[in-house]
Order: sequence, then C-alpha cells, then structure tokens
Amino acid sequence: MSQTKWYKRGNKTNDVDQADYLNKEFQITEKFERFDQKNDIFNRAMWDETINPKKFFTSYDIANFAPKKSKGFDHWDFAFRNASWHLTDVVGEYKYESEGKVEGFTDYYSVQTAGSPSPLALESTTETTRRIKLAAGMFGSGMTGVCEIDNRWIYSHNYSRKTQQSTPLDLPKGMKYAIVMIIPQDHGLSKTYPAALSGASTGLGYGTGLHCANTLAQFITNLGFNAIASLNDTGLNIPLAIQAGLGEYGRHGLLITPIYGPNVRIAKVFTDIPLEIDQPINFGVKEFCNICQKCADNCPPRAIPKGEPQDTPPNFSSLSNIKKWTVDAKRCFKFWVGMNTDCAICIRVCPYNKDYTKWWNRVGIRLANGPLRKLMLKLDEIGKFGERVLPGKWWG
Ligand code: SF4
Ligand code: SF4
Repeated sequence: MSQTKWYKRGNKTNDVDQADYLNKEFQITEKFERFDQKNDIFNRAMWDETINPKKFFTSYDIANFAPKKSKGFDHWDFAFRNASWHLTDVVGEYKYESEGKVEGFTDYYSVQTAGSPSPLALESTTETTRRIKLAAGMFGSGMTGVCEIDNRWIYSHNYSRKTQQSTPLDLPKGMKYAIVMIIPQDHGLSKTYPAALSGASTGLGYGTGLHCANTLAQFITNLGFNAIASLNDTGLNIPLAIQAGLGEYGRHGLLITPIYGPNVRIAKVFTDIPLEIDQPINFGVKEFCNICQKCADNCPPRAIPKGEPQDTPPNFSSLSNIKKWTVDAKRCFKFWVGMNTDCAICIRVCPYNKDYTKWWNRVGIRLANGPLRKLMLKLDEIGKFGERVLPGKWWG
C-alpha cells in the first residue's frame, strides 16, 4: 500500500495559517501560557509529595526490582520491556551525572557530531523537503510533516530531575521549523495493554523515535544546517504534529493519525534548513469522538472526560486556557504506579486503533468520517476490536 496514497485520505485544510487553525479548533485564549516542564506528571513525581511513584521508575532497572509471577508482569515481561527501553535510557542518561540531563525527556539530544562547515546551496525548497521526508522515512518515520515552530508549544522552563532546578527555556536563535515524525508502534503488542509486556511496545516506539530524530538531525547537520533532535523534551509534540498535518486530537488526549490511528509515538527535529510547511488535516475525529466514549468507559481510574471539551484542566499538569478534552494526569499516573508499567488501554480500545494494512479497516475509517459513523462504532463493538490479547497468548 502506498503510504502517501493512504495519507491523502485526510482532507487537507485549505491554506490556513497553522497557528490560527489551532486557535480556532481549541479556542485558545489570550491568557494562554506556555507549559512549565516541571509540572509534567513524570517530573512532578520528582518534587511533589502528592505524586508518589513508589517502585514505578525502579522497575525499569531490573537489577533492583523483583517482578511477580503473574502473567504479563513476570520476569520475562519486565526483562523484555526493560530491554526495549535500554538504548533510550542509556543514551538519554549519559550526561545525567555530569550535567543532570535526561536527553529525550527533559533535554534535547546532544549526540550529534560536527557537520559541514558551510551550508549546501539548495536549489529548491520543494526538493529539499521531499528529500528530508524521504530520509526520515528511511530512518523509521511512518509519516513526516513540517510546521513552523509555534513558540506556544515550547516549554517555558527546562526542569532538571537531578538538581530539581528550573531554568527558562528558549530554542537557539534561527530555528524556524519542526519536522515531526510519527513512529508506529507494534499493533499486536499494543493489543496486550496493560501489562509490563505491552510496555515494550512503548519502549520500542521510543527506541525508534530516538534513532529517527538523531539520524535525521545528523543528516541535516551534515548538509551544513542546524538541527536539534527531540522526543518528549523541549516542547509539546501533539500540537506540533497537528500543525504539521499528521493527525487530529482525540478524547483520550492523544494524536490520532490517519495511517496508524493513536498507536504511535512522536519524535521531532527543530531546524533552520528551509522547508515547505504542511497543512493541518481533518478526517472526522472530533465528530467521531463526540459519539464515542470507549476510551473514557474503559479507563480504569476514570481519568478521561466523558463530556464536552473544557478550558480548565483537572490539575496543573495540563494546559489551561485552551478548550479540549484533558486527561487527569494524576489519576492516570497513579494507575500506572499500581502496575509498575504504563497503561494505554485508551489506545487499545480506540476504534481508530486498527491494522490499516487490512482493506476492511480502511473502509471503516472512511465510514467514521461521514454520516455512517454510528454504524462504524457498532461494527467496532460487534467485531470486538478493542479486546485485550492476553500476554500469555502473545508469548505463545
Ligand atoms: S493510559 Fe490508562 S489510565 Fe491513563 S488515561 Fe489511558 S486508559 Fe486511563
Ligand atoms: S476511543 Fe472513541 S472517544 Fe476515545 S479517542 Fe478513540 S474515537 Fe475518540
């Protein structure tokens, strides 16, 4: 299947200003302020006594963690999950002792080597963009889009988990574009959420994201331009991905892409190489979420809202003055802590979480974007698409 052909299924909005598109879609008010990284729930767990991570973080170091014997959470499962995270952790923490950095999560990467001292003369922005996207695809990106950097999504402060200090954050001058990459996660493994086993789907997604972002940044550096590789650090991925035309926002607070549904991670590269920007897309997600509450109904701690989008978040771990569905990060993380692994039931049960290499699923996503969306929801229920695959079965 041609990825490009499938991608075109989303209707491109016609030449709208990327920032203006989000203003209208999410009714962002003038009181909106950039998010302070310190308040991200994982960083909050480092300084806020009301967020007790217990053994959540230590479970990623099997030398200091004893798994239980239950299926999906036994020694095999934690060994596999932790291995999937290994390179992301080792590369990300190589400057932790010396500089207090967790690259990929609180700080952008610094593993690039020097590139060409003078920038290559570029003949055409269109051709440059095509080659950059081609390279990103070769490095592991499933979909790649470009937006102008909208400063609202860059964190106001950088937080050090080691020193617990916050410092104002601004990208180096001259950075103009974000190249946003969608990293597909393994569909079969993601069917086993929640389990330590399925945490490997997340870990593998981050590992590919690390590779994608750093190799693409090195490629651009080698051409003589500046580039910064980033995962969850530095700025919010979802609004940048929406601006870059890679998907829409779902009730579960995640990006829903037209090719992989919500079963993705996001990586990005900030750069000054001249590029053409993409347009946001619309393929009916908001309208579908309005008639579907599967994620909210299946979320064990009831962290996903059932009602209309709101501009006041459940707590300060989310953005204010922007009208959207917002997950209660505190409740969600508490559930993760109870299992010593991430959950993502909301990804598993989402009707957009399908294997789109199958033609009938491609028909389904078309149905979801039209008057037959209720039928699509019904078919999803009848087909039991969101059912969990037991970890023992996966290993089998
Ligand atoms: S990850 Fe799990 S706990 Fe968190 S919002 Fe999704 S379903 Fe709920
Ligand atoms: S499960 Fe339903 S309501 Fe939730 S994000 Fe997916 S489509 Fe939207």
